[in-house]
Amino acid sequence: MQRASIASICPYCGVGCGLYINTADGKITGLDYMTGHPVSEGALCPKGNASLDIVYHHDRLLYPVQREGDCFERVTWTEALNTVSARLSHIRAHSGPDALGFLASAKATNEENYLFQKLARMLGTNNIDHCARL
Ligand code: SF4
Repeated sequence: MQRASIASICPYCGVGCGLYINTADGKITGLDYMTGHPVSEGALCPKGNASLDIVYHHDRLLYPVQREGDCFERVTWTEALNTVSARLSHIRAHSGPDALGFLASAKATNEENYLFQKLARMLGTNNIDHCARL
């Protein structure tokens, strides 16, 4: 069995706490605290402590799904994006651009969040929010 401990940062928010990701044969087995990290000094919040549990969780969403009545049907990325595009266009055409709202993610990169606000503004609204704007 090949084991490794890889220096990384917690993926859950922009604070960027340091941690070590432990692996065995290429699969994540757990984490260790990075005591010398300048931001977190070896500490992680509850989200950070559980951050790697999701990687192999059976509820993890691995592909797009679309609601059909009370069920969710698996669709392709093209189908999902076409649906989102059609619905955004419909709302904008019938209710105006300020009927749209965009919630960005602290788990996305700065570049992804930049593009996300750009999309919102291209559709004519400044209704953009983010959980980290406190
Ligand atoms: S451990 Fe908590 S505070 Fe630190 S980066 Fe992760 S989510 Fe943010």
